[in-house]
Amino acid sequence: DNAQPKKPDWIRVKAPTSKGYMETKRIMRENRLVTVCEEAGCPNAGECWSQGHATMMIMGDICTRGCTFCNIATGRPDTLDAFEPGRVAHAVEKLGLNHVVITSVDRDDLDDGGAEHFAQTIRAVRHRSPDTTIEILTPDFLKAKPGALETVVEARPDVFNHNLETVPGLYPEVRPGARYFHSLRLLQKVKELDPAMFTKSGIMVGLGEEAPAVRQVMDDMRAADVDFLTIGQYLQPTPKHHAVARFVHPDEFAAYEKSAYGKGFLMVSATPLTRSSYHAGEDFARLRAN
Ligand code: SF4
Ligand code: SF4
Repeated sequence: DNAQPKKPDWIRVKAPTSKGYMETKRIMRENRLVTVCEEAGCPNAGECWSQGHATMMIMGDICTRGCTFCNIATGRPDTLDAFEPGRVAHAVEKLGLNHVVITSVDRDDLDDGGAEHFAQTIRAVRHRSPDTTIEILTPDFLKAKPGALETVVEARPDVFNHNLETVPGLYPEVRPGARYFHSLRLLQKVKELDPAMFTKSGIMVGLGEEAPAVRQVMDDMRAADVDFLTIGQYLQPTPKHHAVARFVHPDEFAAYEKSAYGKGFLMVSATPLTRSSYHAGEDFARLRAN
């Protein structure tokens, strides 16, 4: 067993205690919704949930993939729940969100990869909360039938996010089952289908990648017209998961952010605790106000 580098003091996790946190939790339970905040043991949950910012995960809590950084269980997922889009919409209304992030497990078992369920969820949220901006964080639809991506894009989310997760050289050990250029092409296709839609992607660092490879990923994303970028420190959910190679210093994050803006991203978040849904609403609102 390799010894893990010690957690530096810039990775601080506040204990979730606030009233807002409890209220968010209640609304999630009442509507029987799964959140990635809990499933991934996200370090920002105390802060996000105190403001009602929970990222809902649709289509169950069992994934058909087994990425080595991810804490979601791998296996045979449950059948789709036709009432889930309605419950998500109800929760978004209850939380009174200006911006919601909705994600899902990967559903290689469904012929459309869950595209129609995503689209129904977007439409249900928009119907009940027409002023809420909707950001989706999707799987890669690698095995889905033709037209799946189009189905999701036609439901017109405001932000279409799909994470590349890591540099291409680490895909075989970090994201087996996914293909770097497929994911990149997916982002480019979203932009081709609807040039007005914002696209977003992100990676984790500290998995063993080198800085030039990270800059190359940024260039690849820009070549695919990706608008927003997130970069955060990878944290190991359990000792069975991919090891942390190193804790990237906040100054290096700042350097990534600077070079990303130089490459033309409209919005960049690169800090140790950045997650793809962290402050997504505030950042998006600021961008739209400008
Ligand atoms: Fe949830 Fe995202 Fe906030 Fe983490 S950063 S608690 S995943 S909303
Ligand atoms: Fe986790 Fe997504 Fe990979 Fe499934 S596809 S294991 S949910 S990161």
